[in-house]
Amino acid sequence: MNESAAALAHDTIELCRQLIMRPSVTPSDEGCQELLAQLLASAGFTIENMRFGDVDNLWARRGTAAPLLVFAGHTDVVPTGDEQQWTHPPFAAHRDGDTLYGRGAADMKGGVAAMMTAALRFCEAHPDHAGSIAFLITSDEEGPAVDGTVKVIETLQQRGEQIDWCILGEPSSTFTLGDIIRNGRRGSLGGKLTINGKQGHVAYPHLAENPIHRSLQVLQELTTTEWDRGNDYFPATTFQISNINAGTGATNVIPATLEVMFNLRYSSEINATQIQQKTEAHLAHHDLDFQIDWNLSGLPFITEPAELTAAAIAAIKEICQTPASLDTGGGTSDGRFIAPTGAQVIELGPRNATIHQIDERVSCSELQQLSLVYENILQRLLVSDS
Ligand SMILES: [Zn+2]
Repeated sequence: MNESAAALAHDTIELCRQLIMRPSVTPSDEGCQELLAQLLASAGFTIENMRFGDVDNLWARRGTAAPLLVFAGHTDVVPTGDEQQWTHPPFAAHRDGDTLYGRGAADMKGGVAAMMTAALRFCEAHPDHAGSIAFLITSDEEGPAVDGTVKVIETLQQRGEQIDWCILGEPSSTFTLGDIIRNGRRGSLGGKLTINGKQGHVAYPHLAENPIHRSLQVLQELTTTEWDRGNDYFPATTFQISNINAGTGATNVIPATLEVMFNLRYSSEINATQIQQKTEAHLAHHDLDFQIDWNLSGLPFITEPAELTAAAIAAIKEICQTPASLDTGGGTSDGRFIAPTGAQVIELGPRNATIHQIDERVSCSELQQLSLVYENILQRLLVSDS
């Protein structure tokens, strides 16, 4: 490792700045993974670049033994929005006191930098650590997520590489660092419902069939029905309407169709097929002429409390002096592709207050603390005599 790389390996903030200054708007990587690979290679990691389509992915592993602990993350970021509105240019990585500004600072170049320095310090202190450590880094998390983590996982499974524990550095914290650990996600099932009627004059309703009138009751039923009661990890499933559209623009015309967009964030107490059947049964019961285009964008998953959650909770208590709680809220993440392999998966990262916003930013002292939390988790899981 040359001198500047060696310095970077020990400086979470400077490493995060170097990543922010590479403008890797999804699915572009802009050399972020090359920088990470260089640092990991000098610490004894075996580097594999896995490019699928136009997406760069990095798989870097140190050791061959089980158990395998994986740090997972993404180098791509969402677009900046109007750059003029930013207090500091989004890719300048401007530091103002304890605050570091930039697109990706919190989601999730901060988390990536913290897990890197944590692993590098740990490997220096424990060159003969138990098990293996790996990094799974993609540049396609914010985009379609087709050629990213899901493809890397397929490759690993084909050659029988089993992940035991996986930490995603996604911004899970809400009020203080480490207050929330995500140990699962709800499923997400959306649909576009079209209800057909017969167009006509409002003055002659007996010659038409009003799809709005005919839908009101069933829509009310769908939004108030009890789908399940949730469980210890998931809130109850709900049916949310995000858009209703009908009408020709004229006040005297009964429209021919009504369109409804909806989404269910659902728990592990119900599955997508059951939701589809129940929805269609409600509509059929009202004798409606309808079609639904379904879109399943994520299956629910849960990591039951075990070694990984216990290590993370204990590490947060030791480093941050705060209690952490397990939670399944928030949007989808790449954890949905890793959990089905049987791995224990958690998300633990910086506060998420500014993610995807103008002036995205992160606290430098918090990032340094996060790096200590990750290192502490490694010590708890991969040092035999601890
Ligand atoms: Zn993210």
